[in-house]
Amino acid sequence: MDFDDTPDEAAYRARVRDLLAQHAGDLVHLDAGEEAADAGEQEQALRRTQRVLAEAGLVGVAWAAEHGGQGGSLAQQAIIGQELARAKVPSLINHIGIGMCGPTVIAHGTPDQHERYLARLLRADDVWCQLFSEPASGSDLAALRTTAVRDGDDWVVNGQKVWTTLAHVSDHGILLTRTDPDRPKHGGLTMFVVDMHAPGVTVRPLRQMGGQSDFNEVFFDDVRIPDTERLGEPGEGWRVALTTLLNERVAVGGGGNDLGLSVESLARLAAAKLPGLTAQRQVLARQAVGRAAVAALGNRYTGYRRLTAISQGGLPGPEASAGKLAGTAAAKLVADAGVRLLGDDAVFAVGTGDDEAGRWQRNQAWLPGIAIAGGTDEVLRNIIGERVLGLPPEPREDKHRPFNASGSTR
Ligand SMILES: Cc1cc2nc3c(=O)[nH]c(=O)nc-3n(C[C@H](O)[C@H](O)[C@H](O)COP(=O)(O)OP(=O)(O)OC[C@H]3O[C@@H](n4cnc5c(N)ncnc54)[C@H](O)[C@@H]3O)c2cc1C
Repeated sequence: MDFDDTPDEAAYRARVRDLLAQHAGDLVHLDAGEEAADAGEQEQALRRTQRVLAEAGLVGVAWAAEHGGQGGSLAQQAIIGQELARAKVPSLINHIGIGMCGPTVIAHGTPDQHERYLARLLRADDVWCQLFSEPASGSDLAALRTTAVRDGDDWVVNGQKVWTTLAHVSDHGILLTRTDPDRPKHGGLTMFVVDMHAPGVTVRPLRQMGGQSDFNEVFFDDVRIPDTERLGEPGEGWRVALTTLLNERVAVGGGGNDLGLSVESLARLAAAKLPGLTAQRQVLARQAVGRAAVAALGNRYTGYRRLTAISQGGLPGPEASAGKLAGTAAAKLVADAGVRLLGDDAVFAVGTGDDEAGRWQRNQAWLPGIAIAGGTDEVLRNIIGERVLGLPPEPREDKHRPFNASGSTR
């Protein structure tokens, strides 16, 4: 396998670098996870940044032209991701929209929904969130209890979601609801696009241990959603949700993208810090850096092979779960090695204005959440065991019983 750019990819990379240089003055250059003084200003700056990138043809490049993309390849998308990281442009504000909600709307939406939503999503005119998890249903997502009841041309939604990333800045969300409690739990679900500004939607931010407030509780009290906002048929919500989840596992580490800080930034930190460490600490730090580099590069190149397979017509399959698992583990090793190199400086730097050191510590505090989001490590291991290795499935006593009659309604 040749890991270097092909001549076409090298030319594309040069074009992307050139476009980013041309627009540098219009883009935010924040460090990952860092909070600006004013959250509202930061949101507007991130929306502007995505709009500038979209207008330059650098957002949703692998989406079909009819959906507002460039009809490009996943390799080109990966190149853009690498060049944005190199230019220190933070994650796109609509990364959940682009990575998960958009592909779900493309796969299951009507032409009218495509028309209304996709171009605006790419430009961050509308920011999107994913409203799946509830207080009593995360890993066992199909046990969710938020209901949608048909009333004329509308559905009336009641219930609560939690851990909803970006809900506090979102305009739309994809919302998984229970519409038929008499059917087995996977069979009675329906997906909708919900207007996050609709009457009856209440968003309450939650604060994480790294200090950020990225996710929220969301309450639905008699929220009316027109039937034209349904994604897929009534009762087909689980199939629609699987499209979202498989795309999520490719977007989060499964495509070889670095989660958080790159192995290259670890190498730079090591070159700067190793000479100043005692001989004993140097040995331990070198071992940590070596272990992290092997894991991160192995994951990156395996991810490229997966992207190549997808771009040749494959769909993201259960093996994307292995990519998310390995990507998270590698990212944790990279962050841990960085913190080890910094020693006490990493702990004391947060809040003292030392951005370089604080970034490593914030990253270390952020990664355990990534090992939970979109499928915990344990659940991904179950999926790999059952769906990739063909091992016997876990006992699931409530799988075929009507939801109403199962213990899931507790
Ligand atoms: C940073 C972050 C962002 C998130 N963003 C979103 C979002 O935007 N939208 C959204 O809908 N949700 C989001 N989530 C929620 C996330 O999807 C859930 O947290 C996750 O699915 C786990 O569910 P839970 O928290 O209810 O834990 P539980 O499912 O209660 O799990 C608790 C523990 O039990 C283990 N466990 C559960 N079932 C099994 C099993 N069958 N076998 C072995 N072990 C098991 C788990 O691995 C875990 O260790 C986010 C979470 C985080 C941390």
